[in-house]
Amino acid sequence: MITEMMQYNQRVKQWLPGGVHYNFHLPWEETPLHFKHASRSRVTDMNGNEYLDLYARFGALIVGHGNEEYNECLKDTIDRVLSVSHCDLDAEALELIHQYVPSAEMIRFGLSGTEIVQNALRLARAWTGKNRFVRFEGHYHGNADNIMGGKSARTGLPIPSDYPGDMKGTKGRARDAMESQSYLLPWNDAPRLEELFRQHGDDIAAVIMEPVCVNGGGVMPAPGYLQKVRQLCDQYQVVLIFDEIITGFRMGLGGAQQLFGVTPDLTTLGKAIAGGGVPVSALVGRADIMKLLVDKKVIHAGTFNGYPLGTAAVKATLEMLGRNGGQAMHSMNRHAEMMHDILCQEAVKVGLPLIVQGPSGCASYHCCTEPLTDTADYTFELMSFDILLNSKLAEHGVLVSTLSRMYPNILLDMQDVAWFGERVPAALAEMKEIYD
Ligand code: PMP
Repeated sequence: MITEMMQYNQRVKQWLPGGVHYNFHLPWEETPLHFKHASRSRVTDMNGNEYLDLYARFGALIVGHGNEEYNECLKDTIDRVLSVSHCDLDAEALELIHQYVPSAEMIRFGLSGTEIVQNALRLARAWTGKNRFVRFEGHYHGNADNIMGGKSARTGLPIPSDYPGDMKGTKGRARDAMESQSYLLPWNDAPRLEELFRQHGDDIAAVIMEPVCVNGGGVMPAPGYLQKVRQLCDQYQVVLIFDEIITGFRMGLGGAQQLFGVTPDLTTLGKAIAGGGVPVSALVGRADIMKLLVDKKVIHAGTFNGYPLGTAAVKATLEMLGRNGGQAMHSMNRHAEMMHDILCQEAVKVGLPLIVQGPSGCASYHCCTEPLTDTADYTFELMSFDILLNSKLAEHGVLVSTLSRMYPNILLDMQDVAWFGERVPAALAEMKEIYD
C-alpha cells in the first residue's frame, strides 16, 4: 500500500539527497519518517504512527516536545525582540551558564557544535602560539575536515567512528588538513599522551576530548585519567578542551567536569543547552584566554551568534533544569534508568546479550555482555548489531538516536516507561532471531 508518507518522501527526495538532512544515518531513515505532531515525549508520523522519542534530535531535546514554559519564553521573544542583535535576555542566560558550568568564567555563543569546536581550537592556538592539537579515537567533534576520521595510532586502521562514507569524503585536501593539524591517540592512555608531549609538546596547542566518550559507545574515563591529562596539559602549556556538547546539561548541570572534579581551560557546549527547539552552541572558559576575543586578537564571528530566540531558549532551559535542586533532571534520569532496567531484563528473558552503559542522560545499549572500556571495543560488528536493534525498536514504536543512544527528556513519565516496556520485548525477540 502506498502511504501518504511514502508519497511525501518521493516528493522530498527529488531535491534532498537521500531524503535526509545529514549523513549520520539512522536506520529508520532508510525510509525517512516525517512527523506531523509532537507532544511531551511522543512524536506522530505522517501515517499516524506514534513513537516514544528517545532520538530527541541527536540529544538536543531535553525539555520535551511542546514544553509550555519553554514555548512561552520563545513566543514572548518572537513578539518583542526577534530580530535584534543583543537582547535583554543575555545577562540571565550567561549568568546561568556561569553558575552551573565550573569552567565558564566567560562565555560566547555560536550556532553549531562543529563551529564552536573550531573556535576553541583557534583560541588555543592563539593563546599558546603553537599549532597542532591532540584528539582521540572514537571521539567526535563535528563535521569539519580537520577533525574527522583518521587512522588508529594502534592498528593503522580507520577508527570505529570513521564511517566508510566519511572516508570517501575526506580524501585529498581534507585528509591533509586532518593529518597536518592533529595527532590521533587512543583515549584513556596517559603514558602515550605523555610520550607525545615529550616529543612534540612544543608544537601542541590543545588536547580535545569528550570527557565521557559518548560517541565512542559511552566509554567512561579511567579513574584518574582526566586528572592526569589536566596535569600534563599544565606541565606542557597545552590548552585542555572538554567537548561537552553531549554531556553538558545531560550529565548533571555542571557536566562531566563537575562530576569528575576536573576543570578544563575551555569547554564546548551545544545541543541540550538550548532545550532542543533551536540551535545554540557556546564556547566557555578561562577569562584570561577568552579575553583574547575581547582584544580582537582572535576572530569570533557569526551573523546569528547570540540571536534572541536562542538566548531565550538557553535561559528557559537552564531555569527549568536548575529549579528545585535539579528536580527535573533527577526525574528525567529516574525514568531513563527504569527504561534501561527494562531493556536489560527483557534481553535476559529472550537470551540476547545486551548491556546499557554511560551516564543516564545519554546512555547507549550494546548487544554484548561486558561494558566497553575502550573505544576500540566498539567494533563495526558490534555497531551493526546495535543498529539492527535500533531499527527493530523503531518498527515497534521506540526511536533511539545514532547507533544506540537513548536520550531522555524532562517530560518523560510513567506512561512512557510503560509504553517502552510494552514494545521492547517484541523488538528484542525479533533481534534475537537475527542475532542467532
Ligand atoms: N561534539 C560532540 C561531542 C558531538 O556529539 C557533536 C554532534 N553530535 C558535535 C560536537 C557537533 O555538533 P553539531 O552537530 O551541532 O555541529
